[in-house]
Amino acid sequence: MQLANPNLLKLQNYINGEWRDGASTIDVRDPANGELLAQVADGSAADAEAAVAAASAAFPAWKSKTAAERAAVLKRWYQLIMDNADDLARILTLEQGKPLAEAKGEIVYGASFIEWFAEECRRAYGQTIPTHNPAMRLSTIRQPVGVVTCITPWNFPNAMITRKAAPALAAGCTVVIKPAVETPLSALALCQLAEEAGLPKGTINMVVGTDAPGIGQVLTQDARVAKFTFTGSTNVGKLLMAQCASTVKKMSMELGGNAPFIVFDDADLDTAVAACVATKFRNAGQTCVSTNRIYVHEAVHDEFVVKLRAAVAEMKIGHGCDDGVSVGPVIHRRAAERVNGLVQDAIAAGAKVELGGDYLPHGENYYAPTLITGVTDEMRIAREEIFGPLAPVQKFSDEDDVVRRANETPYGLAAYVMSENIRRANRVVEALEYGMVACNTGVFSTAVAPFGGSKESGIGREGGVEGMAEFYETKYCCFGA
Ligand code: NAD
Repeated sequence: MQLANPNLLKLQNYINGEWRDGASTIDVRDPANGELLAQVADGSAADAEAAVAAASAAFPAWKSKTAAERAAVLKRWYQLIMDNADDLARILTLEQGKPLAEAKGEIVYGASFIEWFAEECRRAYGQTIPTHNPAMRLSTIRQPVGVVTCITPWNFPNAMITRKAAPALAAGCTVVIKPAVETPLSALALCQLAEEAGLPKGTINMVVGTDAPGIGQVLTQDARVAKFTFTGSTNVGKLLMAQCASTVKKMSMELGGNAPFIVFDDADLDTAVAACVATKFRNAGQTCVSTNRIYVHEAVHDEFVVKLRAAVAEMKIGHGCDDGVSVGPVIHRRAAERVNGLVQDAIAAGAKVELGGDYLPHGENYYAPTLITGVTDEMRIAREEIFGPLAPVQKFSDEDDVVRRANETPYGLAAYVMSENIRRANRVVEALEYGMVACNTGVFSTAVAPFGGSKESGIGREGGVEGMAEFYETKYCCFGA
């Protein structure tokens, strides 16, 4: 792998400020062509225990630093990430597959959480509470929760780590991270830069490993861990929540979604199509906030489909490092097969493929950007998280009815509303049972605002003041006479 800064290519686990080998190695491959990129140490449950011990030992000193001292280290980390953004983007594209411009966007987005939380930790104010008894004085202080463990997915291998580690470290917590085995290189490069930034040994630790259940058990059940934070599928999230119960850990869960995208007859269709493309085809549709069900009012349905079809037909498919590519491979063959299964199921139930609908000759992990019409709420495509470059369109005729259909899912992560009517937009935004609703845009996530879901899409928020609060314990202090 050609990098301007070869130090970023780390192949070992990072525990207590040391780079450690595993008993064996994991092959890391380019999903675009199967090429072997690197072999990374395969960490174990014992490594996870060592990492938790290191984080636990580092916690007292790190929490005792002033917020300004912690912020200074984090700002150096932020700056090093920005200085190395081109290399980090290249690593990300090679191991994950997304186009280079998107990978660069993720690096900058991921770094923005570090910068923002470095600033926000200086405002960890408590309260003085008007007393209920003249002889008593009441107040609150906010203190870091303690050791935080994190498990992250492969679809945003940089930002899903910084969204957790930045507020945790800023608050004064220490962290242990288990990144996805598909994308360890982006994760380990972050540790290298954290070390260069001056994060003390043990404050940030990383264990990559194929034994996810074994490592996961340590991270969710070790009594020294105060909080567990997870991003990934709802099924695995439920399992890990159950594991956390034995020691009553604090938890944050960023899980799967089934986002509705509602286009009303008063929408600006060009805006709607641009938003739909951004939310549906970014990262080849492998985004938790990806549009999953496109509901278009019957009066504008045909025009919308023509415009969306034209936009999708223009997409350049190929290796993420090649110029102008807007859609790369999906993460592995299983993912492509899953998408194809959903397409075949929809066709069998009467849906019509307008474009795509098949594998591509570019490589075994490529699936054509696909547009399907005639979809119904009963099809698997509408009920399951698609996680691929597949846009299914349905018709609707009534506002109340489409809101009801949009809400009829156990998921509650993101939803989209396209309308130029301010009253309708407000009404529908408020009626949708989702943690996040975007109106007339397909891109909304930022470090300054709370990201997260309701229902089975999760617990807690990342980003904004809410994201910071996740890592504090509020202590009530009562002083008697
Ligand atoms: P996944 O749940 O299969 O894996 C996520 C992480 O959990 C990986 O690191 C994996 O190794 C680990 N893991 C798997 N089984 C485990 C176990 N038994 N014990 C401990 N760890 C285990 O999810 P994925 O396929 O990597 O990611 C895609 C999913 O993540 C989608 O459902 C997507 O919606 C969701 N996601 C959600 C958000 C959000 O913010 N809500 C963001 C990105 C992705």
